[in-house]
Amino acid sequence: MPKLLTFPRRTSQKWRWLLPILLVLLFLITLIWLPWQAQRMEANERQEQLIADTLWVEQAIQFQLNRNEEIVQQLGKDIVQEKLNPATATDRFRQLLKSNYEIHRIDWFDAQDTLVGSTSESPLFGEAGLRGSHPQSSVIDWQTRTRYLAPTIEPNTNNTYLLSCEIPLIKGNKRIGSIVVSYRLQGILEEMAPWWFAQDNQISLLNPDEKVLAERSAGGPGKNIYTHLRQLDFPGLTLTLRTNSTKNEPKLLANLLVLSVVLLSMGLIWSLLALWRDINRRLTAEGALRHQVAFRTAMENSLITGLRARDMEGRLTYVNPAFCKMIGRTSEQLVGRLPPMPYWAPEALDEYQQRFTQILAGAITSKGFETIYQHANGERFPVLVHESALVNEDGVQTGWMSSILDISALKNSQELTRQQQEKLHANARLATMGEIASMLAHELNQPLAAISSYTTGAINLIKAGTIDNTLLQSALEKANAQTLRAGHIIRSVHQFVKKTDINREPVSITSLIRSVSPLIELQAQGSNVTVRYRLSDNLPNVLVDKILIEQVLLNLTRNAIEAMALCPPEQRLLCILASCEPESGFAGHVLIEVVDRGHGITEETAKQLFSPFFSTKSTGMGMGLNICRTAIEFHSGKLNHMDNPLGGTIFRFSLPVK
Ligand code: ADP
Repeated sequence: MPKLLTFPRRTSQKWRWLLPILLVLLFLITLIWLPWQAQRMEANERQEQLIADTLWVEQAIQFQLNRNEEIVQQLGKDIVQEKLNPATATDRFRQLLKSNYEIHRIDWFDAQDTLVGSTSESPLFGEAGLRGSHPQSSVIDWQTRTRYLAPTIEPNTNNTYLLSCEIPLIKGNKRIGSIVVSYRLQGILEEMAPWWFAQDNQISLLNPDEKVLAERSAGGPGKNIYTHLRQLDFPGLTLTLRTNSTKNEPKLLANLLVLSVVLLSMGLIWSLLALWRDINRRLTAEGALRHQVAFRTAMENSLITGLRARDMEGRLTYVNPAFCKMIGRTSEQLVGRLPPMPYWAPEALDEYQQRFTQILAGAITSKGFETIYQHANGERFPVLVHESALVNEDGVQTGWMSSILDISALKNSQELTRQQQEKLHANARLATMGEIASMLAHELNQPLAAISSYTTGAINLIKAGTIDNTLLQSALEKANAQTLRAGHIIRSVHQFVKKTDINREPVSITSLIRSVSPLIELQAQGSNVTVRYRLSDNLPNVLVDKILIEQVLLNLTRNAIEAMALCPPEQRLLCILASCEPESGFAGHVLIEVVDRGHGITEETAKQLFSPFFSTKSTGMGMGLNICRTAIEFHSGKLNHMDNPLGGTIFRFSLPVK
């Protein structure tokens, strides 16, 4: 049995989509999340970079201011030790200014805050003086410590803030004055923030109430996306360093990665859809294939013809269940086998081998051939084998396909038919014999009866002693004639029954009737029946076997006479008519009628009138009418009967004109 293809159920097919869909969704989410995350990371990186840079700038400012402070403190020491007078001190201040561009001016005040020397012509604090810039409420003793003063607007300018650092001059424990180093806040930003940082950021210095004191924005205003605030802590003063990056947020869509993600996703979705369509097509094709396979398997299983496929070497590549059943072996036992095959009968090995060689040579007969195969149980059975070439889709022959039909039943039925045919022939012979016997018996009745009556008459003449030679001779001649007639009857009947060519000859119907009239009358006399003839003139000849038609006439007249046996004598009239009238419905025929006035024929009798062995008479054989009809039809004529309107029956038959 070929194994049926098995396919997974449709429900599981639905679910198997779930995992790929989930994976694809996960992939898409990851693809979308990745650029977003990259953007986030880039933003964070920028922010962190800004913080680090801001810190660096803050450190740079702090460092530079501290360094300046230390240099000025050193100068302050020289002043305290009176190594410098106001003029030399101012020169040193100016030198310091030259090497430190961030320093705007340096002023030297005495203990009363009176200006001793200055690098600038204009006063530093205007009307308020240095005292005015000191904070009023302060717990720290600023007399002896360096301090930074609140930023003030530079005199004669609009918006230029100065940051001043007052370094006290201490001699012993006494404050003898102070040196005030002033920076332009704008200058601090210009000199101390590196150009590359200023290019990317708007840098501002704010006082505690967030008023912008100085600002540098070489690369344009900040975008307020990446900002950072850093405290600049000076003794007595805290400023805020604000950096505001000019960079935009990293753009998501401009990102090549995003573009590739989108393209990749679209490609993926497209290929998934294509795959889905393809799989659907495959599933449909698979379904159709499944139906085809089921249909073919059902066909294969219901076939009663054995099928067998062989490759070019004669190896069995396929056998169907019918073939397996036929030879009583499984497909596993057969497929892959090379000759000699297990179903080959040993006695016919030579024949198989010869035919196999022929087939391999390509000599295939389309007619098919009969051979015998051997069942696994050893039984031989006849088969009819048709071979044909097995051609693949490229038109190349790959082997041979054979259909094998077990013809045991056919052979048996042929044998049975032959036997039945033989029986039939035997029966037919027997029937013919019976027919001959019964016909002879029937037909010979009359001549024998006639012979009997003629010889009885002759004997009576002899017994009576009145030997009338003429009468005796006539009786014996008639008896002799009847004997000859009996011989004729035997021959005619034999020929008739054998359906061989009977002796037809053109006969005048008038002379035919006349020739049997003595016999009719002989019988009629015995029954007191009057016989009348009404024969038309110039009747044409008919082509008949005279004896057979005479017998027909004799049979019909005898039946007519017998039918009138019980009638009153005056009714016993037998008429024999012969005519040839075109209007009678028997054109081209001579019509002979036998009319009696007997008991007639009932409907019941009429139904079986012509059946063999049907008789209402106690001594009747029931063959007369049957033989008559066969004989008339044998001459292409018709025999029928009708009621006589005067009572009795009319039998009539037609015979074709020569
Ligand atoms: P048989 O004369 O031996 O009975 P037939 O075949 O000649 O056989 O006739 C069959 C039957 O047909 C007869 O038994 C008779 O009943 C009926 N029959 C034949 N001819 C006539 C007739 N002229 N009138 C009435 N009945 C007839």
